[in-house]
Amino acid sequence: MPTLRTPSSWQPFVTGLVYFITAAFAVMTSRFGGGLAFIWISNAFLMAELLTTPTRYWWKAILACSIASAMATGLFGLGPTAALPMVLVNLAESMMVVAICRSQSREQTFVGSLRPLFIFILALTVIANPIAGLAAAFVASSVTTVPFWHSWLQWYSGHVLGAMTFTPILVQLLRGEWRQWLKSTPNLAKFEVIGLLALFAFITAQVFFIARYPLLFLPMLPLVVISFRAGHMGAAIAIVLLALIGGTATAMGFGPIARIDVSHGTHVQFFQFYLAISFLLSMPVAADLSGRKRLFQMLSDSEARFRILADNSGDMVFNISAGGIIQYASPSAKEFMNIGPDGLVDMPLEEIVLSADRAVVANALRRAIKHPGSVQMVEFRPLHVVNGVSWWEMAVRAILNEHATAIGVVCTIRDMSRHKAVQQELQIAANVDGLTGAATRRAFLQRLEAEIQDLAAGGKACVALIDVDHFKSVNDQHGHGAGDQALRALVACMRKGLRQIDMIGRLGGEEFAILLPQTDLSQAGLICERLRAAVEDMAIAIDNGRSIHITFSAGLVETEGSDDAASVIDAADKALYNAKRSGRNCLRLAA
Ligand code: GH3
Ligand code: MG
Ligand code: MG
Repeated sequence: MPTLRTPSSWQPFVTGLVYFITAAFAVMTSRFGGGLAFIWISNAFLMAELLTTPTRYWWKAILACSIASAMATGLFGLGPTAALPMVLVNLAESMMVVAICRSQSREQTFVGSLRPLFIFILALTVIANPIAGLAAAFVASSVTTVPFWHSWLQWYSGHVLGAMTFTPILVQLLRGEWRQWLKSTPNLAKFEVIGLLALFAFITAQVFFIARYPLLFLPMLPLVVISFRAGHMGAAIAIVLLALIGGTATAMGFGPIARIDVSHGTHVQFFQFYLAISFLLSMPVAADLSGRKRLFQMLSDSEARFRILADNSGDMVFNISAGGIIQYASPSAKEFMNIGPDGLVDMPLEEIVLSADRAVVANALRRAIKHPGSVQMVEFRPLHVVNGVSWWEMAVRAILNEHATAIGVVCTIRDMSRHKAVQQELQIAANVDGLTGAATRRAFLQRLEAEIQDLAAGGKACVALIDVDHFKSVNDQHGHGAGDQALRALVACMRKGLRQIDMIGRLGGEEFAILLPQTDLSQAGLICERLRAAVEDMAIAIDNGRSIHITFSAGLVETEGSDDAASVIDAADKALYNAKRSGRNCLRLAA
Protein backbone atom coordinates (compact mmCIF):
# COMPACT_ATOMS: atom_id res chain seq x y z
CA MET A 1 0.00 0.00 0.00
CA PRO A 2 1.43 3.42 -0.94
CA THR A 3 2.26 5.47 2.12
CA LEU A 4 1.23 8.80 0.59
CA ARG A 5 -1.45 9.48 -1.97
CA THR A 6 -1.96 12.10 -4.67
CA PRO A 7 -5.12 14.10 -3.91
CA SER A 8 -7.55 14.69 -6.76
CA SER A 9 -8.01 18.31 -7.90
CA TRP A 10 -11.42 18.68 -6.25
CA GLN A 11 -10.33 17.24 -2.93
CA PRO A 12 -9.15 20.55 -1.37
CA PHE A 13 -12.59 22.04 -2.07
CA VAL A 14 -14.31 19.11 -0.41
CA THR A 15 -11.97 19.36 2.57
CA GLY A 16 -12.63 23.12 2.75
CA LEU A 17 -16.38 22.61 2.49
CA VAL A 18 -16.45 19.93 5.20
CA TYR A 19 -14.23 22.16 7.34
CA PHE A 20 -16.67 25.01 6.92
CA ILE A 21 -19.76 22.91 7.66
CA THR A 22 -18.32 21.26 10.78
CA ALA A 23 -16.86 24.56 12.02
CA ALA A 24 -20.06 26.50 11.43
CA PHE A 25 -22.09 23.75 13.09
CA ALA A 26 -19.72 23.71 16.06
CA VAL A 27 -19.78 27.45 16.67
CA MET A 28 -23.53 27.63 16.15
CA THR A 29 -24.37 24.77 18.53
CA SER A 30 -21.61 24.48 21.10
CA ARG A 31 -20.62 28.02 22.14
CA PHE A 32 -22.13 27.64 25.57
CA GLY A 33 -21.63 30.87 27.43
CA GLY A 34 -20.69 32.78 24.24
CA GLY A 35 -17.03 31.88 24.20
CA LEU A 36 -15.15 29.34 22.11
CA ALA A 37 -16.83 26.23 20.69
CA PHE A 38 -16.83 23.21 23.00
CA ILE A 39 -16.62 20.76 20.11
CA TRP A 40 -14.15 21.09 17.26
CA ILE A 41 -13.66 18.33 14.73
CA SER A 42 -12.78 20.53 11.72
CA ASN A 43 -9.02 20.40 12.27
CA ALA A 44 -9.18 16.59 12.06
CA PHE A 45 -10.11 16.91 8.38
CA LEU A 46 -7.19 19.24 7.65
CA MET A 47 -4.73 17.06 9.59
CA ALA A 48 -5.90 13.85 7.94
CA GLU A 49 -5.53 15.48 4.53
CA LEU A 50 -2.01 16.74 5.29
CA LEU A 51 -0.90 13.51 6.95
CA THR A 52 -1.78 11.47 3.89
CA THR A 53 -0.50 13.71 1.06
CA PRO A 54 2.97 14.89 -0.07
CA THR A 55 3.94 18.40 1.09
CA ARG A 56 3.76 19.89 -2.41
CA TYR A 57 -0.05 19.54 -2.35
CA TRP A 58 -0.51 21.03 1.09
CA TRP A 59 -1.02 24.65 0.10
CA LYS A 60 -4.36 23.91 -1.60
CA ALA A 61 -5.90 22.22 1.45
CA ILE A 62 -4.45 24.89 3.76
CA LEU A 63 -5.89 27.69 1.62
CA ALA A 64 -9.31 26.04 1.41
CA CYS A 65 -9.47 25.41 5.16
CA SER A 66 -8.25 28.94 5.97
CA ILE A 67 -11.10 30.46 3.96
CA ALA A 68 -13.55 28.00 5.55
CA SER A 69 -12.33 28.79 9.05
CA ALA A 70 -12.43 32.55 8.48
CA MET A 71 -15.99 32.37 7.15
CA ALA A 72 -17.23 30.15 10.00
CA THR A 73 -15.71 32.36 12.70
CA GLY A 74 -16.61 35.61 10.93
CA LEU A 75 -20.22 34.69 10.14
CA PHE A 76 -21.25 32.51 13.06
CA GLY A 77 -18.57 32.65 15.75
CA LEU A 78 -16.53 35.30 17.49
CA GLY A 79 -17.02 37.75 14.63
CA PRO A 80 -14.93 39.29 11.77
CA THR A 81 -12.22 40.81 14.01
CA ALA A 82 -11.40 37.43 15.48
CA ALA A 83 -11.61 35.61 12.13
CA LEU A 84 -8.01 36.07 10.96
CA PRO A 85 -6.34 35.36 14.33
CA MET A 86 -8.50 32.23 14.74
CA VAL A 87 -7.51 31.04 11.23
CA LEU A 88 -3.86 31.38 12.19
CA VAL A 89 -4.30 29.59 15.52
CA ASN A 90 -6.16 26.67 13.93
CA LEU A 91 -3.62 26.38 11.15
CA ALA A 92 -0.69 26.57 13.55
CA GLU A 93 -2.19 23.84 15.71
CA SER A 94 -2.83 21.46 12.80
CA MET A 95 0.54 22.14 11.19
CA MET A 96 2.40 21.56 14.45
CA VAL A 97 0.81 18.14 14.90
CA VAL A 98 1.42 17.12 11.30
CA ALA A 99 5.02 18.38 11.31
CA ILE A 100 5.84 16.48 14.51
CA CYS A 101 4.22 13.27 13.23
CA ARG A 102 6.10 13.50 9.94
CA SER A 103 9.49 14.26 11.45
CA GLN A 104 9.32 11.74 14.28
CA SER A 105 7.87 8.80 12.51
CA ARG A 106 8.93 7.43 9.14
CA GLU A 107 5.85 5.21 9.23
CA GLN A 108 2.92 6.99 7.68
CA THR A 109 0.37 4.45 8.91
CA PHE A 110 0.22 6.18 12.25
CA VAL A 111 -3.11 4.69 13.27
CA GLY A 112 -2.04 1.09 12.85
CA SER A 113 1.21 1.20 14.83
CA LEU A 114 1.83 1.99 18.45
CA ARG A 115 4.77 4.41 18.23
CA PRO A 116 3.37 6.75 15.56
CA LEU A 117 0.01 6.72 17.34
CA PHE A 118 1.67 7.82 20.58
CA ILE A 119 3.60 10.50 18.76
CA PHE A 120 0.34 11.78 17.32
CA ILE A 121 -1.36 11.77 20.73
CA LEU A 122 1.57 13.48 22.45
CA ALA A 123 1.98 16.08 19.68
CA LEU A 124 -1.69 16.89 20.00
CA THR A 125 -2.20 16.83 23.75
CA VAL A 126 1.15 17.99 25.08
CA ILE A 127 2.51 20.39 22.45
CA ALA A 128 0.20 21.71 19.73
CA ASN A 129 -3.04 22.01 21.66
CA PRO A 130 -1.84 23.63 24.88
CA ILE A 131 0.18 26.20 22.90
CA ALA A 132 -2.54 26.98 20.34
CA GLY A 133 -5.02 27.11 23.24
CA LEU A 134 -3.07 30.01 24.80
CA ALA A 135 -3.35 32.07 21.60
CA ALA A 136 -7.01 31.15 21.14
CA ALA A 137 -7.85 32.00 24.76
CA PHE A 138 -6.11 35.36 24.33
CA VAL A 139 -8.26 36.15 21.29
CA ALA A 140 -11.45 34.88 22.95
CA SER A 141 -10.87 36.72 26.20
CA SER A 142 -10.27 39.97 24.29
CA VAL A 143 -13.51 39.80 22.32
CA THR A 144 -15.78 38.08 24.88
CA THR A 145 -16.33 38.18 28.62
CA VAL A 146 -15.24 34.55 29.13
CA PRO A 147 -12.14 34.41 31.38
CA PHE A 148 -8.80 33.42 29.84
CA TRP A 149 -8.26 30.02 31.50
CA HIS A 150 -11.88 29.10 30.98
CA SER A 151 -11.45 29.68 27.26
CA TRP A 152 -8.18 27.76 27.27
CA LEU A 153 -9.85 24.69 28.80
CA GLN A 154 -12.75 24.91 26.35
CA TRP A 155 -10.34 25.01 23.44
CA TYR A 156 -8.12 22.28 24.81
CA SER A 157 -10.85 19.75 25.53
CA GLY A 158 -12.82 20.46 22.37
CA HIS A 159 -9.85 20.35 20.02
CA VAL A 160 -8.06 17.38 21.58
CA LEU A 161 -11.24 15.33 21.51
CA GLY A 162 -12.29 16.31 18.02
CA ALA A 163 -8.84 15.53 16.62
CA MET A 164 -8.35 12.32 18.58
CA THR A 165 -11.75 10.93 17.69
CA PHE A 166 -11.80 11.73 14.02
CA THR A 167 -8.24 11.95 12.68
CA PRO A 168 -7.47 8.21 12.87
CA ILE A 169 -10.61 7.16 11.06
CA LEU A 170 -10.22 9.89 8.43
CA VAL A 171 -6.61 8.91 7.77
CA GLN A 172 -7.72 5.32 7.24
CA LEU A 173 -10.47 6.45 4.92
CA LEU A 174 -8.18 8.66 2.86
CA ARG A 175 -5.48 6.02 2.63
CA GLY A 176 -8.00 3.55 1.22
CA GLU A 177 -7.48 1.14 4.12
CA TRP A 178 -11.19 0.48 4.19
CA ARG A 179 -11.30 -0.70 0.62
CA GLN A 180 -8.29 -2.86 1.32
CA TRP A 181 -9.97 -4.29 4.39
CA LEU A 182 -13.18 -5.07 2.51
CA LYS A 183 -11.21 -6.80 -0.24
CA SER A 184 -8.91 -8.83 1.94
CA THR A 185 -11.15 -9.85 4.85
CA PRO A 186 -13.13 -13.10 4.69
CA ASN A 187 -16.91 -12.69 4.94
CA LEU A 188 -17.16 -14.39 8.30
CA ALA A 189 -14.66 -11.94 9.81
CA LYS A 190 -16.55 -9.03 8.24
CA PHE A 191 -19.80 -10.21 9.82
CA GLU A 192 -18.07 -10.53 13.15
CA VAL A 193 -16.81 -6.94 12.99
CA ILE A 194 -20.17 -5.60 11.85
CA GLY A 195 -21.95 -7.63 14.54
CA LEU A 196 -19.61 -6.36 17.26
CA LEU A 197 -20.02 -2.74 16.12
CA ALA A 198 -23.81 -3.12 15.99
CA LEU A 199 -23.77 -4.57 19.50
CA PHE A 200 -21.57 -1.69 20.63
CA ALA A 201 -23.92 0.89 19.06
CA PHE A 202 -26.89 -0.83 20.66
CA ILE A 203 -25.36 -0.89 24.13
CA THR A 204 -24.18 2.72 23.82
CA ALA A 205 -27.66 3.84 22.75
CA GLN A 206 -29.17 1.93 25.70
CA VAL A 207 -26.74 3.56 28.14
CA PHE A 208 -27.22 7.11 26.83
CA PHE A 209 -30.89 7.13 25.85
CA ILE A 210 -32.74 4.50 27.89
CA ALA A 211 -31.00 3.15 30.99
CA ARG A 212 -32.07 4.62 34.28
CA TYR A 213 -28.73 3.96 35.95
CA PRO A 214 -25.41 5.63 35.10
CA LEU A 215 -23.94 2.65 33.19
CA LEU A 216 -21.10 4.58 31.53
CA PHE A 217 -18.74 1.65 32.04
CA LEU A 218 -20.92 -0.73 30.06
CA PRO A 219 -19.75 0.22 26.50
CA MET A 220 -16.16 -0.46 27.62
CA LEU A 221 -16.68 -4.20 27.48
CA PRO A 222 -17.61 -4.45 23.77
CA LEU A 223 -15.03 -1.71 23.05
CA VAL A 224 -12.23 -3.88 24.41
CA VAL A 225 -13.52 -6.91 22.50
CA ILE A 226 -13.62 -4.79 19.32
CA SER A 227 -10.02 -3.64 19.88
CA PHE A 228 -8.88 -7.25 20.02
CA ARG A 229 -11.06 -8.74 17.32
CA ALA A 230 -11.62 -5.91 14.82
CA GLY A 231 -8.24 -4.18 14.79
CA HIS A 232 -7.51 -0.47 14.70
CA MET A 233 -10.15 0.16 12.08
CA GLY A 234 -12.91 -1.37 14.20
CA ALA A 235 -11.68 0.55 17.25
CA ALA A 236 -11.67 3.85 15.32
CA ILE A 237 -15.24 3.25 14.11
CA ALA A 238 -16.38 2.38 17.64
CA ILE A 239 -14.94 5.63 18.98
CA VAL A 240 -16.79 7.61 16.30
CA LEU A 241 -20.02 5.73 17.11
CA LEU A 242 -19.53 6.51 20.79
CA ALA A 243 -18.90 10.18 19.97
CA LEU A 244 -21.97 10.43 17.76
CA ILE A 245 -24.42 8.50 19.94
CA GLY A 246 -23.19 9.68 23.33
CA GLY A 247 -22.53 13.21 22.08
CA THR A 248 -25.99 13.58 20.57
CA ALA A 249 -27.68 12.21 23.69
CA THR A 250 -25.68 14.45 26.01
CA ALA A 251 -26.28 17.52 23.82
CA MET A 252 -29.99 16.72 23.78
CA GLY A 253 -30.11 16.38 27.55
CA PHE A 254 -30.33 12.58 27.69
CA GLY A 255 -28.17 10.06 29.44
CA PRO A 256 -26.17 9.71 32.65
CA ILE A 257 -23.93 12.72 32.04
CA ALA A 258 -26.78 15.12 31.28
CA ARG A 259 -28.33 14.15 34.59
CA ILE A 260 -25.41 15.55 36.58
CA ASP A 261 -26.35 18.84 38.17
CA VAL A 262 -23.88 21.18 36.39
CA SER A 263 -23.97 23.55 33.39
CA HIS A 264 -24.54 22.24 29.90
CA GLY A 265 -21.03 23.19 28.88
CA THR A 266 -19.65 21.12 31.73
CA HIS A 267 -21.77 18.17 30.56
CA VAL A 268 -20.13 18.41 27.17
CA GLN A 269 -16.67 18.65 28.75
CA PHE A 270 -17.37 15.65 30.96
CA PHE A 271 -18.48 13.67 27.95
CA GLN A 272 -15.29 14.66 26.12
CA PHE A 273 -13.25 13.40 29.04
CA TYR A 274 -15.19 10.12 28.93
CA LEU A 275 -14.56 9.85 25.20
CA ALA A 276 -10.84 10.55 25.65
CA ILE A 277 -10.53 7.72 28.16
CA SER A 278 -12.39 5.37 25.81
CA PHE A 279 -10.03 6.36 23.00
CA LEU A 280 -6.93 5.72 25.13
CA LEU A 281 -8.37 2.42 26.28
CA SER A 282 -8.96 1.05 22.82
CA MET A 283 -6.77 2.67 20.16
CA PRO A 284 -3.28 1.88 21.51
CA VAL A 285 -4.26 -1.75 22.17
CA ALA A 286 -5.70 -2.05 18.68
CA ALA A 287 -2.66 -0.35 17.13
CA ASP A 288 -0.25 -2.64 18.96
CA LEU A 289 -2.19 -5.71 17.90
CA SER A 290 -2.24 -4.53 14.29
CA GLY A 291 1.52 -3.99 14.50
CA ARG A 292 1.98 -7.51 15.85
CA LYS A 293 -0.22 -8.93 13.12
CA ARG A 294 1.90 -7.19 10.49
CA LEU A 295 5.06 -8.50 12.17
CA PHE A 296 3.64 -12.01 12.21
CA GLN A 297 2.79 -11.72 8.52
CA MET A 298 6.32 -10.52 7.75
CA LEU A 299 7.71 -13.36 9.82
CA SER A 300 5.75 -16.03 8.00
CA ASP A 301 6.76 -14.45 4.65
CA SER A 302 10.40 -14.61 5.62
CA GLU A 303 9.96 -18.13 6.98
CA ALA A 304 8.48 -19.17 3.63
CA ARG A 305 11.42 -17.57 1.80
CA PHE A 306 13.88 -19.33 4.09
CA ARG A 307 12.22 -22.71 3.43
CA ILE A 308 12.36 -22.25 -0.33
CA LEU A 309 16.04 -21.31 -0.19
CA ALA A 310 16.93 -24.05 2.27
CA ASP A 311 14.96 -26.77 0.47
CA ASN A 312 16.45 -25.97 -2.91
CA SER A 313 19.97 -25.05 -1.92
CA GLY A 314 22.92 -27.19 -2.97
CA ASP A 315 24.43 -26.29 0.38
CA MET A 316 23.30 -27.93 3.57
CA VAL A 317 21.28 -25.68 5.91
CA PHE A 318 20.94 -26.38 9.62
CA ASN A 319 19.12 -24.73 12.47
CA ILE A 320 20.95 -25.51 15.66
CA SER A 321 19.86 -24.81 19.22
CA ALA A 322 22.07 -22.91 21.66
CA GLY A 323 22.90 -26.32 23.15
CA GLY A 324 24.29 -27.56 19.80
CA ILE A 325 21.38 -29.83 18.82
CA ILE A 326 20.24 -29.94 15.19
CA GLN A 327 16.65 -28.75 14.96
CA TYR A 328 16.27 -28.48 11.22
CA ALA A 329 18.29 -29.97 8.37
CA SER A 330 17.68 -29.23 4.69
CA PRO A 331 17.03 -32.06 2.21
CA SER A 332 20.50 -31.66 0.68
CA ALA A 333 21.89 -33.31 3.85
CA LYS A 334 21.15 -36.60 2.11
CA GLU A 335 23.78 -35.89 -0.57
CA PHE A 336 26.35 -34.74 1.95
CA MET A 337 25.92 -37.48 4.50
CA ASN A 338 23.64 -40.21 3.19
CA ILE A 339 21.38 -39.32 6.12
CA GLY A 340 18.04 -37.61 5.48
CA PRO A 341 16.87 -34.57 7.50
CA ASP A 342 14.72 -36.81 9.72
CA GLY A 343 17.71 -38.78 10.87
CA LEU A 344 19.61 -35.61 11.77
CA VAL A 345 17.03 -33.70 13.76
CA ASP A 346 17.65 -33.96 17.53
CA MET A 347 21.25 -35.10 16.94
CA PRO A 348 24.09 -33.03 18.45
CA LEU A 349 26.00 -31.27 15.65
CA GLU A 350 29.32 -32.56 16.97
CA GLU A 351 28.30 -36.10 16.15
CA ILE A 352 28.75 -35.42 12.45
CA VAL A 353 32.13 -33.70 12.94
CA LEU A 354 35.52 -35.46 13.00
CA SER A 355 36.57 -35.55 16.65
CA ALA A 356 39.79 -33.59 16.01
CA ASP A 357 37.73 -30.68 14.62
CA ARG A 358 34.94 -30.62 17.20
CA ALA A 359 36.57 -27.90 19.26
CA VAL A 360 36.86 -25.45 16.34
CA VAL A 361 33.24 -26.06 15.37
CA ALA A 362 32.03 -25.55 18.96
CA ASN A 363 34.10 -22.36 19.12
CA ALA A 364 32.50 -21.01 15.94
CA LEU A 365 29.02 -21.63 17.38
CA ARG A 366 30.01 -19.91 20.62
CA ARG A 367 31.43 -16.91 18.76
CA ALA A 368 28.28 -16.60 16.61
CA ILE A 369 26.08 -16.60 19.72
CA LYS A 370 28.35 -14.14 21.51
CA HIS A 371 28.37 -11.71 18.58
CA PRO A 372 24.85 -11.68 17.13
CA GLY A 373 24.75 -10.23 13.63
CA SER A 374 28.25 -11.47 12.77
CA VAL A 375 28.87 -14.41 10.45
CA GLN A 376 31.48 -16.89 11.66
CA MET A 377 33.27 -19.07 9.12
CA VAL A 378 34.89 -22.37 10.01
CA GLU A 379 36.47 -25.19 8.00
CA PHE A 380 36.31 -28.72 9.33
CA ARG A 381 36.18 -32.38 8.36
CA PRO A 382 33.05 -34.52 8.57
CA LEU A 383 33.07 -37.70 10.62
CA HIS A 384 32.31 -39.78 7.52
CA VAL A 385 33.54 -38.96 4.02
CA VAL A 386 30.67 -39.40 1.56
CA ASN A 387 31.11 -39.00 -2.22
CA GLY A 388 34.70 -37.90 -1.68
CA VAL A 389 33.67 -34.83 0.30
CA SER A 390 36.31 -34.57 2.98
CA TRP A 391 36.27 -30.87 3.92
CA TRP A 392 33.29 -28.71 4.82
CA GLU A 393 33.07 -24.97 5.14
CA MET A 394 30.40 -23.67 7.51
CA ALA A 395 28.98 -20.13 7.87
CA VAL A 396 27.21 -19.59 11.22
CA ARG A 397 24.96 -16.79 12.36
CA ALA A 398 22.91 -16.35 15.54
CA ILE A 399 19.10 -16.53 15.61
CA LEU A 400 17.64 -13.95 17.99
CA ASN A 401 14.40 -13.98 19.93
CA GLU A 402 12.18 -10.92 20.48
CA HIS A 403 14.50 -9.69 23.27
CA ALA A 404 17.46 -9.80 20.87
CA THR A 405 18.93 -12.74 22.80
CA ALA A 406 20.55 -15.50 20.75
CA ILE A 407 18.57 -18.74 21.04
CA GLY A 408 20.48 -20.75 18.49
CA VAL A 409 22.21 -20.48 15.14
CA VAL A 410 21.48 -21.02 11.50
CA CYS A 411 24.33 -22.36 9.42
CA THR A 412 25.06 -23.26 5.84
CA ILE A 413 27.58 -25.94 5.00
CA ARG A 414 29.26 -26.42 1.65
CA ASP A 415 31.72 -28.87 0.20
CA MET A 416 35.18 -27.38 0.03
CA SER A 417 37.22 -30.54 -0.66
CA ARG A 418 38.36 -29.41 -4.10
CA HIS A 419 39.34 -25.99 -2.79
CA LYS A 420 41.23 -27.64 0.06
CA ALA A 421 43.03 -29.97 -2.38
CA VAL A 422 44.16 -27.03 -4.53
CA GLN A 423 45.26 -25.23 -1.38
CA GLN A 424 47.31 -28.23 -0.32
CA GLU A 425 48.89 -28.53 -3.77
CA LEU A 426 49.88 -24.88 -3.65
CA GLN A 427 51.26 -25.34 -0.17
CA ILE A 428 53.33 -28.30 -1.31
CA ALA A 429 54.51 -26.40 -4.39
CA ALA A 430 55.69 -23.57 -2.19
CA ASN A 431 57.57 -25.93 0.12
CA VAL A 432 59.07 -28.53 -2.22
CA ASP A 433 61.72 -27.93 -4.84
CA GLY A 434 60.41 -28.99 -8.22
CA LEU A 435 63.68 -30.45 -9.55
CA THR A 436 65.02 -32.47 -6.65
CA GLY A 437 62.11 -32.91 -4.26
CA ALA A 438 64.16 -31.35 -1.46
CA ALA A 439 62.54 -28.67 0.71
CA THR A 440 62.65 -25.15 -0.73
CA ARG A 441 64.94 -22.58 0.81
CA ARG A 442 61.97 -20.89 2.52
CA ALA A 443 60.60 -24.15 3.98
CA PHE A 444 64.05 -25.25 5.16
CA LEU A 445 64.82 -21.96 6.89
CA GLN A 446 61.38 -21.96 8.51
CA ARG A 447 61.93 -25.44 9.92
CA LEU A 448 65.44 -24.51 11.06
CA GLU A 449 64.11 -21.42 12.79
CA ALA A 450 61.46 -23.52 14.57
CA GLU A 451 64.08 -26.08 15.58
CA ILE A 452 66.31 -23.35 17.07
CA GLN A 453 63.36 -22.05 19.09
CA ASP A 454 62.63 -25.55 20.40
CA LEU A 455 66.27 -26.12 21.30
CA ALA A 456 66.34 -23.01 23.46
CA ALA A 457 65.03 -25.29 26.22
CA GLY A 458 67.86 -27.79 25.67
CA GLY A 459 68.92 -30.43 23.14
CA LYS A 460 71.21 -30.56 20.14
CA ALA A 461 70.96 -30.31 16.36
CA CYS A 462 73.44 -29.91 13.50
CA VAL A 463 73.34 -28.35 10.06
CA ALA A 464 75.52 -29.31 7.11
CA LEU A 465 75.92 -26.94 4.19
CA ILE A 466 76.79 -28.77 0.98
CA ASP A 467 78.06 -27.48 -2.36
CA VAL A 468 78.76 -29.72 -5.39
CA ASP A 469 82.37 -29.54 -6.51
CA HIS A 470 83.18 -28.14 -9.94
CA PHE A 471 79.59 -28.35 -10.95
CA LYS A 472 80.10 -25.80 -13.69
CA SER A 473 82.27 -28.28 -15.51
CA VAL A 474 79.56 -31.01 -15.20
CA ASN A 475 77.23 -28.67 -17.05
CA ASP A 476 79.93 -27.68 -19.50
CA GLN A 477 80.96 -31.21 -20.36
CA HIS A 478 77.63 -33.06 -20.30
CA GLY A 479 75.02 -30.42 -20.71
CA HIS A 480 72.51 -28.80 -18.39
CA GLY A 481 70.16 -31.83 -18.51
CA ALA A 482 72.87 -34.06 -17.15
CA GLY A 483 73.58 -31.48 -14.46
CA ASP A 484 69.90 -31.61 -13.44
CA GLN A 485 69.98 -35.39 -13.30
CA ALA A 486 73.06 -35.23 -11.14
CA LEU A 487 71.32 -32.90 -8.69
CA ARG A 488 68.31 -35.24 -8.50
CA ALA A 489 70.54 -38.24 -7.94
CA LEU A 490 72.48 -36.38 -5.26
CA VAL A 491 69.34 -35.65 -3.23
CA ALA A 492 68.01 -39.19 -3.68
CA CYS A 493 71.32 -40.66 -2.57
CA MET A 494 71.58 -38.46 0.51
CA ARG A 495 67.99 -39.13 1.50
CA LYS A 496 68.73 -42.84 1.64
CA GLY A 497 71.35 -42.19 4.27
CA LEU A 498 69.15 -39.95 6.44
CA ARG A 499 66.38 -40.48 9.01
CA GLN A 500 62.73 -39.50 8.72
CA ILE A 501 63.25 -36.53 11.04
CA ASP A 502 66.18 -35.11 9.03
CA MET A 503 65.51 -32.54 6.34
CA ILE A 504 67.26 -31.72 3.09
CA GLY A 505 66.75 -28.23 1.70
CA ARG A 506 67.93 -26.82 -1.62
CA LEU A 507 69.21 -23.37 -0.73
CA GLY A 508 69.92 -22.47 -4.36
CA GLY A 509 71.69 -23.79 -7.48
CA GLU A 510 73.79 -26.79 -6.47
CA GLU A 511 73.93 -25.80 -2.85
CA PHE A 512 72.03 -27.81 -0.22
CA ALA A 513 71.62 -27.91 3.51
CA ILE A 514 70.85 -30.82 5.80
CA LEU A 515 69.20 -30.43 9.18
CA LEU A 516 70.03 -33.19 11.63
CA PRO A 517 67.89 -32.84 14.75
CA GLN A 518 68.79 -34.59 18.04
CA THR A 519 72.34 -35.08 16.78
CA ASP A 520 75.61 -33.86 18.27
CA LEU A 521 78.57 -32.73 16.21
CA SER A 522 80.46 -36.01 16.28
CA GLN A 523 77.43 -38.04 15.17
CA ALA A 524 76.70 -35.46 12.48
CA GLY A 525 80.33 -35.72 11.29
CA LEU A 526 79.92 -39.46 10.88
CA ILE A 527 76.64 -39.13 9.02
CA CYS A 528 78.01 -36.53 6.64
CA GLU A 529 81.14 -38.50 6.01
CA ARG A 530 79.00 -41.49 5.10
CA LEU A 531 76.95 -39.36 2.75
CA ARG A 532 80.05 -37.90 1.14
CA ALA A 533 81.44 -41.38 0.50
CA ALA A 534 78.12 -42.65 -0.85
CA VAL A 535 77.86 -39.73 -3.30
CA GLU A 536 81.45 -40.11 -4.39
CA ASP A 537 80.82 -43.80 -5.14
CA MET A 538 77.55 -43.20 -6.95
CA ALA A 539 77.57 -43.63 -10.71
CA ILE A 540 74.95 -41.29 -12.21
CA ALA A 541 73.54 -42.57 -15.48
CA ILE A 542 73.05 -39.82 -18.04
CA ASP A 543 71.18 -39.83 -21.35
CA ASN A 544 73.72 -41.22 -23.79
CA GLY A 545 74.32 -44.42 -21.78
CA ARG A 546 77.36 -43.03 -20.01
CA SER A 547 77.61 -42.30 -16.33
CA ILE A 548 79.25 -39.53 -14.37
CA HIS A 549 80.50 -39.03 -10.83
CA ILE A 550 80.22 -36.01 -8.60
CA THR A 551 81.56 -35.05 -5.20
CA PHE A 552 80.60 -32.40 -2.72
CA SER A 553 82.24 -30.36 -0.01
CA ALA A 554 80.43 -29.69 3.26
CA GLY A 555 80.63 -27.30 6.22
CA LEU A 556 79.19 -28.65 9.45
CA VAL A 557 77.91 -26.66 12.40
CA GLU A 558 76.07 -27.29 15.66
CA THR A 559 73.06 -25.02 16.22
CA GLU A 560 73.85 -24.56 19.90
CA GLY A 561 74.93 -21.01 20.69
CA SER A 562 73.19 -19.50 17.64
CA ASP A 563 70.00 -17.59 18.02
CA ASP A 564 68.71 -17.60 14.45
CA ALA A 565 68.82 -19.55 11.19
CA ALA A 566 70.90 -16.90 9.39
CA SER A 567 73.81 -17.13 11.85
CA VAL A 568 73.78 -20.95 11.68
CA ILE A 569 73.95 -20.85 7.87
CA ASP A 570 76.62 -18.19 8.04
CA ALA A 571 78.84 -20.31 10.26
CA ALA A 572 78.26 -23.40 8.09
CA ASP A 573 79.13 -21.35 5.01
CA LYS A 574 82.51 -20.42 6.50
CA ALA A 575 83.22 -24.09 7.23
CA LEU A 576 82.20 -24.98 3.67
CA TYR A 577 84.59 -22.37 2.32
CA ASN A 578 87.32 -24.06 4.34
CA ALA A 579 86.39 -27.43 2.87
CA LYS A 580 86.62 -25.99 -0.64
CA ARG A 581 89.98 -24.45 0.14
CA SER A 582 91.18 -27.74 1.54
CA GLY A 583 90.80 -29.37 -1.87
CA ARG A 584 87.06 -30.22 -2.02
CA ASN A 585 85.27 -33.60 -1.56
CA CYS A 586 85.68 -33.24 2.17
CA LEU A 587 84.02 -32.12 5.35
CA ARG A 588 84.98 -29.25 7.68
CA LEU A 589 83.58 -28.25 11.08
CA ALA A 590 82.73 -24.68 11.94
CA ALA A 591 85.27 -22.99 14.14
P1 GH3 B 1 82.93 -25.06 -6.74
O1 GH3 B 1 83.57 -26.34 -6.55
O2 GH3 B 1 83.85 -23.93 -6.37
O3 GH3 B 1 81.66 -24.97 -6.06
O4 GH3 B 1 82.77 -24.92 -8.28
P2 GH3 B 1 81.38 -24.81 -9.03
O5 GH3 B 1 81.66 -25.02 -10.47
O6 GH3 B 1 80.40 -25.74 -8.44
O7 GH3 B 1 81.07 -23.32 -8.77
P3 GH3 B 1 79.73 -22.69 -8.32
O8 GH3 B 1 79.24 -23.34 -7.10
O9 GH3 B 1 79.93 -21.21 -8.24
O10 GH3 B 1 78.84 -22.98 -9.58
C1 GH3 B 1 77.53 -23.48 -9.53
C2 GH3 B 1 77.06 -23.83 -10.87
O11 GH3 B 1 75.93 -24.65 -10.80
C3 GH3 B 1 76.67 -22.66 -11.72
C4 GH3 B 1 75.38 -23.06 -12.41
O12 GH3 B 1 75.56 -23.13 -13.81
C5 GH3 B 1 75.14 -24.44 -11.93
N1 GH3 B 1 73.75 -24.61 -11.57
C6 GH3 B 1 73.07 -23.94 -10.62
N2 GH3 B 1 71.78 -24.39 -10.56
C7 GH3 B 1 71.68 -25.39 -11.50
C8 GH3 B 1 70.61 -26.22 -11.93
O13 GH3 B 1 69.51 -26.17 -11.43
N3 GH3 B 1 70.85 -27.14 -12.90
C9 GH3 B 1 72.08 -27.22 -13.46
N4 GH3 B 1 72.25 -28.14 -14.43
N5 GH3 B 1 73.08 -26.43 -13.10
C10 GH3 B 1 72.92 -25.52 -12.13
MG1 MG C 1 77.86 -23.22 -5.62
MG1 MG D 1 79.85 -25.80 -6.62
